[in-house]
Amino acid sequence: MNALATETSLPMMLNLAPAKRVMVFAPHPDDECIGCGGALALLAQNPEVQISVVLVTNGDGGEHSPDVNMGPRRLLEMQAALKVLGVSELKTMGRLDGRFELDDQFETDAQQLIQSFQPNWVFLPGPMDYHKDHLLVSKGVESACKEVDSVEQLVYFETWTPLPATHVLDITSVMDLKCRALQAHHSALKYGDYERGVKGLNAYRGLYLGFDRFAEAFVVQTRAEFENPSSWLTQLKGLGLSLKSRLGART
Ligand SMILES: [Zn+2]
Repeated sequence: MNALATETSLPMMLNLAPAKRVMVFAPHPDDECIGCGGALALLAQNPEVQISVVLVTNGDGGEHSPDVNMGPRRLLEMQAALKVLGVSELKTMGRLDGRFELDDQFETDAQQLIQSFQPNWVFLPGPMDYHKDHLLVSKGVESACKEVDSVEQLVYFETWTPLPATHVLDITSVMDLKCRALQAHHSALKYGDYERGVKGLNAYRGLYLGFDRFAEAFVVQTRAEFENPSSWLTQLKGLGLSLKSRLGART
């Protein structure tokens, strides 16, 4: 820990040692790389850690995409990206991209997946993400996790919206791997220079660690915290930082 971190309330270092069975919910192909690709690469280096990634939507680009092959192609790209990170298990939920609806069926399906894998850590999108699919997936997965006792902590990752991070993870040693994995998402990269954006975000988060570091930042909530209706995160969500209220405030 450097001087800057000890003198202020900067995020703590994320200790990966307690992670034994790790489940990741990615709303779309590429979120797993952008949000926690470094963490996955580091976790995959430990053969005792089991990792299961769940792709929630079909990634077909939604109603804006005329390309009917987009979904299957993006699934192959995601498999290739995960292979680079050292992860082989990928499950799909087949929900609609860009039109994700949070219903009872989603929570039941998510709960079944969590129940059968028995993760002790679950990675999920940030609870105040700008992207509606991310926001709703976060809410649904959080709710499903409350019903499965094996889940010891939730690890919210940042994609479209930076988080009020509680923890950071030094991913400098696997930053190249993360970038290579991201490059496998050819279809997504046509819509934005995500590699540049991710490097910038991870370099910024690396400032907490000293010079020349890359880091991923997370909000970590223990079971006691995510079950607590008056936790600071629940209160923050209640302040109206949701996509809906932000958009409503503009009109
Ligand atoms: Zn996404």
